[in-house]
Amino acid sequence: MMDHPIDWLSAYIDDELEADQRQLIEDHLQHCESCAAVVHDMMELKAQVAGFYLTIEPPLYLEQQVIQAINNKSSIDSWIRAWFAVPLAGILCLVTLWFLFGPILVRLVSALFKFVLAAFYLFSNMATSIPSVFGTVVIIAVMLLMISGISLRRLLRSTMQ
Ligand SMILES: [Zn+2]
Repeated sequence: MMDHPIDWLSAYIDDELEADQRQLIEDHLQHCESCAAVVHDMMELKAQVAGFYLTIEPPLYLEQQVIQAINNKSSIDSWIRAWFAVPLAGILCLVTLWFLFGPILVRLVSALFKFVLAAFYLFSNMATSIPSVFGTVVIIAVMLLMISGISLRRLLRSTMQ
């Protein structure tokens, strides 16, 4: 009877043995409970490790998501820059024009300010009137549903008779 081939068991599990060596190990495992137990434990450990690596393997779409997130971030940055740049450019233009046509611009700017205020009030009124518009739409939809239900019932009754 051969000694316990402990050093070979790992290679056996990893399927790295020649056919005759493999046969020797298999023969030994059939008679030796301790080596069979070792092989069993090692296989279990290997399966667990493989399963663990499968669970932590990043999904295939992760890279795409990262790239997309980077693109989104840069687009957000450019948006922020645009939101800062547009008013800044406007103020610079106004300051330049102020030095060129100061007195005329006072009236122009005040007129523009009134226009902006009027537009602001208009939009805020529209925004507050949206819920009532929504409510009206809901009421009309419910009425239409009721009317169609009643007419459907009448239609069914007239066809039943
Ligand atoms: Zn053994």
